[in-house]
Amino acid sequence: MQRNEDGGIVISCDFCGVDWDEALSMIEGHQGSVLCLTCLKLALDDARPSDEPFKGTLCLSEKPAGTNRWIHPQAETSPGLNPDAPLCWDCIRLAAKGFHKDPDVDFRWDSSLYPPQPVTKP
Ligand SMILES: [Zn+2]
Ligand SMILES: [Zn+2]
Repeated sequence: MQRNEDGGIVISCDFCGVDWDEALSMIEGHQGSVLCLTCLKLALDDARPSDEPFKGTLCLSEKPAGTNRWIHPQAETSPGLNPDAPLCWDCIRLAAKGFHKDPDVDFRWDSSLYPPQPVTKP
């Protein structure tokens, strides 16, 4: 997310609250939401099906219960933290793809290890 501080705009990861320092790789979602590479790596392996419907922070889409989601397990309170920021599986995969394609980012993934989630019909 973005906030104004000392007359300038500070960009931070919604999920862990870390401020962007121009070295950390980040990806932007809707309405200024931001995900950093560190969080993405955690999310890829720690996403779990949600017990309840939720709204994805990056995509702003309503997701049904059962959708894989990730929330930072130990985010420290900071001015840049979005305290309610679930990350959905579609966005995790999209972000991984984006980081993977970026030659400046030291991140490669094997998409076959993280397949799309089948859409479960109620
Ligand atoms: Zn982060
Ligand atoms: Zn999403």
